[in-house]
Amino acid sequence: MNDELEELYQQVILDHSKRPRNFGELADAVHVHGDNPSCGDEISLHVKFGSEGEVSDLKFTGIGCAISQASASLMTLKLKGKPRVEAEQILRTFHKLVTSEEETDAKGLGDLILLKGVRKFPQRVKCAMLAWRAFEQALSERDGEVSTEKEEG
Ligand code: ZN
Repeated sequence: MNDELEELYQQVILDHSKRPRNFGELADAVHVHGDNPSCGDEISLHVKFGSEGEVSDLKFTGIGCAISQASASLMTLKLKGKPRVEAEQILRTFHKLVTSEEETDAKGLGDLILLKGVRKFPQRVKCAMLAWRAFEQALSERDGEVSTEKEEG
């Protein structure tokens, strides 16, 4: 990562962790609680699906490190209003971005691409993926719990 990108990365992550977007709760929504005990991050995600299964709205609350909260904030911005198929595609692309050594075709991820640097740090990958694991669970349209300690990669 060059210095310019490093600086942008820090600005965006800090901005989203200090002023998270779509922060709050939604009534009549699917609720998933995500836990990352190795870092102490928690995310409470609320997702509403529309009549055709699209992600009509989502909000989160949480506590934890800047990476976990910024990833959740950026995720809600990216997924809101997306058809289900597209949301699933974004989930897969983001997972690949932060875990794969291969170059990922990440166009369409927007500022989320700035989280790419976590791939070098397995503990940070858990932080970055926490909200996304919760979203993955929410796609079943049932309330639930996820923990980074119970899953592989
Ligand atoms: Zn963390």
